[in-house]
Amino acid sequence: MDNLRLSWLLEEAAALMEIKGENPFKVRAFQNGARIVAGLPRSFQEMLDDGELAQTSGIGKGLLGQIKDYAQSGSLNALDELRQEIPEGVAEFLHIPGVGPKMARTFYDKLGVTTVADLEDAARARKVRELKGLGGKTEMSLLRSIERMRQRSGRTSTAIARPLANEVKSLLESLSCVETCTIAGSLRRQSATVKDLDVLVVSDQPEQVIEVFVALPYVQEITGQGSTKASVVFKAGLNGDLRVLTAEQFACGLHYFTGSKAHNIRMRQIAKEQGYTLNEYSLTNTQTGQETPIGSESDLFRCLGLAYIEPELREDRGEIEAAQQGTLPQRLTVEHIQGDLHMHTVYSDGANTVAEMAEAARAMGHKYIAICDHSRSLKIANGMSVERLLRQRDEIRQVSKEMNFPILSGVECDILADGSLDYEDDLLAQLDIVVASIHSGFQQEEHQLTQRLIRAIEHPYVHIIGHPTGRMLGQREPYPVDMDAVIAAAKRQKKILEINATPERFDLNETYAAMCREQGVPVAINTDAHRTEQLRYVESGVAYARRAWLEPKHVANTWPLEDLLAYIGK
Ligand SMILES: [Zn+2]
Ligand SMILES: [Zn+2]
Repeated sequence: MDNLRLSWLLEEAAALMEIKGENPFKVRAFQNGARIVAGLPRSFQEMLDDGELAQTSGIGKGLLGQIKDYAQSGSLNALDELRQEIPEGVAEFLHIPGVGPKMARTFYDKLGVTTVADLEDAARARKVRELKGLGGKTEMSLLRSIERMRQRSGRTSTAIARPLANEVKSLLESLSCVETCTIAGSLRRQSATVKDLDVLVVSDQPEQVIEVFVALPYVQEITGQGSTKASVVFKAGLNGDLRVLTAEQFACGLHYFTGSKAHNIRMRQIAKEQGYTLNEYSLTNTQTGQETPIGSESDLFRCLGLAYIEPELREDRGEIEAAQQGTLPQRLTVEHIQGDLHMHTVYSDGANTVAEMAEAARAMGHKYIAICDHSRSLKIANGMSVERLLRQRDEIRQVSKEMNFPILSGVECDILADGSLDYEDDLLAQLDIVVASIHSGFQQEEHQLTQRLIRAIEHPYVHIIGHPTGRMLGQREPYPVDMDAVIAAAKRQKKILEINATPERFDLNETYAAMCREQGVPVAINTDAHRTEQLRYVESGVAYARRAWLEPKHVANTWPLEDLLAYIGK
């Protein structure tokens, strides 16, 4: 049950190591470790005891030693040492877009600042521009970035929120007094980031449920406690709201607490027009005062003359009108997905072999996959030399034949600073599919980044642009890019843009994905899996795509392989 805490500590240690200037491979080992621990199927303690953790790929000796110590002492040695050297607030600097570990270190060493607020004061006092290697321009963009960070603060990526939600849900469900437990709110609507967890429980013993909820190990602070509800702040930094409902209240409560606010306002209007009063507990006839029994959300929509609206669509972006007219989008589901076109293996920074990834994908029901490991410039991710790329291509052909399962031999090719690609054309021509992505040089101006992407789109051997805006939720803002121009270029060149389903990314965002749909540019929902378990990201990727009203036909990897190959001209 302590997996999340351990994962956060590893993450913090990685951030502090970066600032300290430790070996980047060691930093990455901790970052990967944090992610692996958060996604373990059982408690790390159990897996440590029965030896399975030592067998988990990505958990090396050094990391395992740290975890063992943690299991015994409850603290992480590496982190304790780092905390002595670097004050807590300095790690926060890394969350400012454009500030890397070196710059964070300079701010601390030269300006003596240890909080973002102090750093901001220093920048306003024009002290940042006097630092060696930095100038007025950096100072201005630093201030802008701090401002933007403040606007979005308080939102947490689903990479953190979803595992926490799952643990809370399973703990509450294990209570005999709990009938059901559901997570509502923006997490149910599949927002890319969430501000709080809305936990709904059906029970006839609310006091008992509340007592357990506020005592959960993830709770940092109790901010409110009543007879049927409680509010807390979780250690992960997000708020949690618990509501205990009766079975009769549940359907209206689920709808209400799923939101969004804008959708709910419209729903109450619709109810009013039809002589009802709708609130979080019931649908009531305004004249007679009689409650209409509502057994499910579908019932509620039906009573108001609406087709069922998927949670992902409930944003008042036209879904209510569409539900009245019967023009809601066809529901895209994970069953429509035929393949996954972006995943990594041990050839670069993945944890599994070609055969292991293919077996796992086939077991999930995929009909084909593409393996796209990193290209040679991305040294930090063990990018492939020409020779290794060719060796991998041969291995892919062989595994594909042995398994009788189509595996496209591809690459995730770096788009270099000038928009050229990381390998020669004649090599790219020998591959089945090429995903092109930007992994460095984010500091360029908007027109440069836009041109870079467009040049890649115009390259005859590029088929898909990977994670087109480079955002890392909670860590890095998207780089500035003119997506209108990028989408127009993709349309001209008949190229595909990716929704990267890694929970920190969801990139394209829903606005751009909707623009692709309107413009007729196909989208691929790819997991970018670095280990077999991550192939499951496709589920949240599909749910996220529903927010953009994407239907199966808009998504290139719902197509049969022949159609996909025909589209990319193979
Ligand atoms: Zn990438
Ligand atoms: Zn990738």
